[in-house]
Amino acid sequence: MKKDRLVLGHEAIGVVEAVGSGVELRKGDLVVPIVRRGCGVCLNCKVGRQDFCETGNFVEAGIRGQDGFMRDYFVDQEVYMVRVPPQLREVGVLSEPLSNVVKGVEELFTLQRRTLWTCEDSTFQCRTAFVIGSGPIGLLFAMTLVTEGFNVAVLNRRDPNEVESKVTEAIGVKFEKLGDGLPSPDLIVDTAGSPVTLLKLLSKIKNNGAVVLFGTTSGEREEISADLITELVERNILVVGSVNASKEHFAKAVTYLSLWHDRFPEALRTMITSEVKPEEAGEALRSKTKGEVKTVLRWSQ
Ligand SMILES: [Zn+2]
Repeated sequence: MKKDRLVLGHEAIGVVEAVGSGVELRKGDLVVPIVRRGCGVCLNCKVGRQDFCETGNFVEAGIRGQDGFMRDYFVDQEVYMVRVPPQLREVGVLSEPLSNVVKGVEELFTLQRRTLWTCEDSTFQCRTAFVIGSGPIGLLFAMTLVTEGFNVAVLNRRDPNEVESKVTEAIGVKFEKLGDGLPSPDLIVDTAGSPVTLLKLLSKIKNNGAVVLFGTTSGEREEISADLITELVERNILVVGSVNASKEHFAKAVTYLSLWHDRFPEALRTMITSEVKPEEAGEALRSKTKGEVKTVLRWSQ
């Protein structure tokens, strides 16, 4: 049945209040709900990989076809819940955006097995990654790639704001302004979806390099030339689009957050730029503060 209204909110963390019979979760457990629910028909969905749904007939809580989590309570199946340790109570809400990042990085590693991509010492320390865009997803990609051992630079058209400076400094990555004079990267992760920006950088990428496309936008146009296609072919450049995440990636996101809770506590805290009550949500949405990364809507204490 087509719904004419939808409860928004797909990034959430909650506390289990009650469980039915046969459920392993317990009252008081902290959980993060996963967003996409499969079509029930294709093989990927049947094995919990609805992030690779073949029919496209999936629903996404808070986005399309299913109510989201911007409410006091919701009832859901245990299979769609990922348990979060108590110490991540404040930052566990980042699990959902981070799950998408974890999947993107996993795609990258899976596909780059086509070549020897590690350095002589078996790490990625000789590899440079450019992350285009410094929004929440860009910063989470930077944190993940730094954790995996890459040299990372976050790129934007403008100078960093205070929050971006704080986060990039805390995790030890550079914030660079887009333009000439940038070195050649081994990896480009695009979180901005700007074809103009991407194409400028694409010709600079090193041989056997990889491009992960994550960002989407609309309206901007850029032409792809035959020369560029030739270059991508001749230089073995990988280009992969990645969207959504499976439950496994949510679980891995929780593992990264647990690690960063100790390693990058300041960066994690800074990512949550403000917290508002439900009745303040409308105003918070209308008057987005400058430098906002994530605003948390807290339903109860
Ligand atoms: Zn499917």
